[in-house]
Amino acid sequence: MNPVMLNVNGIEVIYNHVILVLKGVSLQVPQGAVVALLGGNGAGKTTTLRAISNLLEGERGAVTKGGIELAGERTERLDTAAMVQRGVVQVMEGRHCFAHLSIEENLLTGAYTRRDGKAAVAATLEKVYHYFPRLKTRRSSQAAYTSGGEQQMCAIGRALMANPRMVLLDEPSMGLAPQIVEEVFEIVKDLNTKEGTTFLLAEQNTHMALRYADHGYILENGRVVMEGSAAALRDNEDVREFYLGMG
Ligand code: ATP
Repeated sequence: MNPVMLNVNGIEVIYNHVILVLKGVSLQVPQGAVVALLGGNGAGKTTTLRAISNLLEGERGAVTKGGIELAGERTERLDTAAMVQRGVVQVMEGRHCFAHLSIEENLLTGAYTRRDGKAAVAATLEKVYHYFPRLKTRRSSQAAYTSGGEQQMCAIGRALMANPRMVLLDEPSMGLAPQIVEEVFEIVKDLNTKEGTTFLLAEQNTHMALRYADHGYILENGRVVMEGSAAALRDNEDVREFYLGMG
């Protein structure tokens, strides 16, 4: 197996000083893997991703126990910009495109931290268009007038513009038709295989996530209750019954 890129070690997260939401979550993401973080509404998936990207402060949350390591470096006291500089970017739930900007302008906002010049950014933009041909077709359209699927693609494409090593993807399937979800996941897998981009994705759509991930963790009420290879989880009776509706 590839070396561990991200190591989340027993983190506890508290919101507003009192609401204990993560109760000792540990997970590992190997370099070059697609790892799924699964579980129902309110299980703590988003909070885990926010903790990794150090996005908790704005939500009045904090990691109060445990630690997070990226390639061996402790990162839980860094800020979000420092995580982006280290190659970790987040695509937040709900897509968050700038509605009044065109698709291309949205994509370019993702490159704002880069210092490697216009030509390098233009090359990444072409790469994004290569993986998301729909975005190329819609490059001049105002994001507000594009479909939900195109906005999700735009949000992922914008994250890719930062040239990340690891993308944290929160609920990419939310609100999308099954066919579009499949299209998005196919592209994620393609990026993973061809570009070596590592993905940690939070999903309630267990079925779809386990088709594309290598490994999965199931969260319930702020704790990891099960983990395993995607194949093992797909075959697990409890997972089949409770998460895949095949009991
Ligand atoms: P969802 O799919 O609904 O986003 P989730 O698994 O991502 O679910 P979280 O969003 O991490 O779950 O929420 C976990 C718990 O933390 C929930 O009980 C939620 O109400 C609570 N929570 C989330 N954000 C905050 C916040 N900013 N302040 C207080 N409590 C919060």
